[in-house]
Amino acid sequence: MDRRTFLGTVSGATIGLAIPSSLTAPAHARSVRIIRELPSWGEKRTAWTVDDGTSPEAVRRYIRLVAENDLRLTFFVYSAMGSWLANKRELQPLVDSGQIQLANHTAHHPALAGLSTKEIQKELTGAHIFIEKHFGVDARPFYRPPYGSINKKVVNAAAEIGYTMPMLWSGSLGDASNIRSGRLLALAKSSFYDGSIVLAHANNLTAPSIFPRLLKVINGKELQLVTLAEAFDQV
Ligand SMILES: [Zn+2]
Repeated sequence: MDRRTFLGTVSGATIGLAIPSSLTAPAHARSVRIIRELPSWGEKRTAWTVDDGTSPEAVRRYIRLVAENDLRLTFFVYSAMGSWLANKRELQPLVDSGQIQLANHTAHHPALAGLSTKEIQKELTGAHIFIEKHFGVDARPFYRPPYGSINKKVVNAAAEIGYTMPMLWSGSLGDASNIRSGRLLALAKSSFYDGSIVLAHANNLTAPSIFPRLLKVINGKELQLVTLAEAFDQV
C-alpha cells in the first residue's frame, strides 16, 4: 500500500467515526437554500465573516479586535492553515463564549463544484474533524464553499453529512489577496448594511491596519455585529 492509499484509508475510517450515523441518512437537500443575507430582525444587524487564515498575524489581530471591543464574528476555517492552532490560546476562550463562531471552509480550499460527492464530503469532513478535535465545537450546519463554487451536487453532498447552511455573502472587503486600504474602506462602506453578510479574509494585514475605521463604519450605521449562529438561531 503506498502512502497515498494508506492516508486515504485512514481518513476514510475517521470520517466513519466522526459523523454520527443519524447524520448520514439522506438529508432534505431539496429544502436547502444558498444563503447570502441574514434573516430580518428587530435590530439592525450585520455578520462580519472572515475566511481562510493564510496569515497567522491577521488571525491574531482579528481575535484581539473581538476580545478588546466585545464584538461577534465568524471565522470560516480553512483547516490546513497553521493559523488556527498558532492562535489557539487566544481563540479558544472566545469560541467558548460564543463571540467567535468557527464554521467550515474545507480542509484544502478546493473549488467544490469540480469534485465528486465523495471528495466534497472528504474536504468538509477534514475541516469538521479539525475544528471539533482542537476547539471542541461542531461547525455544522454552516459552511462556505471556497471561491463561492457551489452547485446542486455540492449542496446535496454537504447536506448528507449535516452541512445544510451554505453561506455565500452579500458584500465583500475584496481582501482575499492584497488590496489598498482606501479601496477596502470604500468596499466596507457599501458592504456593511442591515442584513448583510460581509466576506473578509485573514490573509493579509490591510483590514487589521484600518480596524478603527472599519468599526467606525459599522457603528456609524448603528449595526450590531452577530455571528451566523446567532443570526440563524442555532445557539
Ligand atoms: Zn477562502
